[in-house]
Amino acid sequence: MTGRHGRDCRELVEQLSRFIDNDLPPAERQAVRRHLQRCPCCDDFVASLARTVRLCQQTGHVELPPAVRARAVARVRRLIAQEALAPTPRRPQGSKGH
Ligand SMILES: [Zn+2]
Repeated sequence: MTGRHGRDCRELVEQLSRFIDNDLPPAERQAVRRHLQRCPCCDDFVASLARTVRLCQQTGHVELPPAVRARAVARVRRLIAQEALAPTPRRPQGSKGH
């Protein structure tokens, strides 16, 4: 049951940036955590977003610039949409060395 994106993922994307900002109520944080445990893609996204946030903090910004966050969220949305549309969830031609 891993590797496929469902409606869960789409809804989760909305919450991920708030999750990283510690801006979610505990119940929703739990739900996000549970999802991350079984969804490598979202887990990966959170990891990279968290890294970006950390970098921003190191350079003096207290929070992720909205533009950066929007771009990250948009990227994941596109990824999810592509996989949802694709007939086969397998790798496209050629190996991307993922
Ligand atoms: Zn997911």
